[in-house]
Amino acid sequence: MQLGDLGLFLLVMAALAIGYVLGRYDLFSSGRTIRKITGRAASQYLRGLNFILNDNPEAAVDTFAQVLEVNQESFETYLSLGILLRSRGEIGHAIKFHQNLLENHSLSEHQKYLVRLELGLDFQKAGVFDQAERIFEGLRQCEIPSIKTKSLEYLADIFRDERDWPKAIATSDELIKLAQDDANRSKWLHRQAHFYCELALEAKNFESTERVEQILNRARASDPQCPRVSLEWAKLKMELGDYAEAIKQFQKVPNQDPDFIPEILPELLECFRALGNPYELIDYLRFLQDRYPSSSLLISLAEQVKRFSGETAAVELLDQKLKTRPSLRVIGKFLDFQFSRKEKNDENQRAQQLVRELLELLVIHRSYYLCGSCGFSGNHLHWLCPSCKSWGTTKAVKGIEGE
Ligand SMILES: [Zn+2]
Repeated sequence: MQLGDLGLFLLVMAALAIGYVLGRYDLFSSGRTIRKITGRAASQYLRGLNFILNDNPEAAVDTFAQVLEVNQESFETYLSLGILLRSRGEIGHAIKFHQNLLENHSLSEHQKYLVRLELGLDFQKAGVFDQAERIFEGLRQCEIPSIKTKSLEYLADIFRDERDWPKAIATSDELIKLAQDDANRSKWLHRQAHFYCELALEAKNFESTERVEQILNRARASDPQCPRVSLEWAKLKMELGDYAEAIKQFQKVPNQDPDFIPEILPELLECFRALGNPYELIDYLRFLQDRYPSSSLLISLAEQVKRFSGETAAVELLDQKLKTRPSLRVIGKFLDFQFSRKEKNDENQRAQQLVRELLELLVIHRSYYLCGSCGFSGNHLHWLCPSCKSWGTTKAVKGIEGE
């Protein structure tokens, strides 16, 4: 059994044990009678579960299909068993299991909705998006708010995976209207801002600048604090040669989320260079470094200081900052500067070079980006985490080996 199944397995076992005991002894709870699971149903339960645990899902599905009556307690156990099959990768069997369950005449309308949601997820996991979409489209008409919301959430996931941004935006609009609390509303507004950003990137290829700007305005209206929206605005303005406006957009990012400062630096430097404002750039980098210190910022600042005030000033700056904030990348830059100041025959040079190479190895073999939501790591910024599918949670790693 995979580790991820363990929690679900324990849940199923607990539900089974409770269902079995309550069924056998016909106990009373909170003044109401728990419906008795007959001896035959109870033994079918255990047989079916035994088949799942012994990697015989086909026999398990057949066994569960023979159960004629499902009550509230056993229904929840059945839902967990279906999820267990799907999470173990037995998608075909999970589909059959849920289809069989839908044919069970003892199910209430509400229970049928819940099974159809699970069946939709089975098809989604199997990559049969049109079937999944058809099921969720049917359920979004449901008058039960929780079923309607769930089906819309799953539809938004499908449209995201299909990169159908207009549909993802329309679905998120509905979810924003249905949201019961601020946290949910904010979550969907933030996702919607990313959907608009993706749409804007596509529109750049075949639509007018006005249309792209209109889409980015909508992204900003959805989430005015989203750093990605500022970044996409800045890149668009750069492409149009409007460097002053691009700088204004880049400068919104530190206030929105300083963790994204390393993402704006190369292009921000390019904009300042294009406008010929080196001292203004140094002042701005100093301001940022004092407020939101990071390795990338300090290295950029030191490079600018070296360019305009000389190597000694740059080395002093790094030396001073390293005392309070050690960083492998900054030490590497410090050695680079020191290196270029030494004579070629300096006997310390080889030792310095070895240390420099060692640092490089240490930094190269570290992942530079980490998802704050699931821990996925890699060497590229992903706005949409490839693992947990969260938007904007992958950021540059902090600490001595990172920023
Ligand atoms: Zn993640």
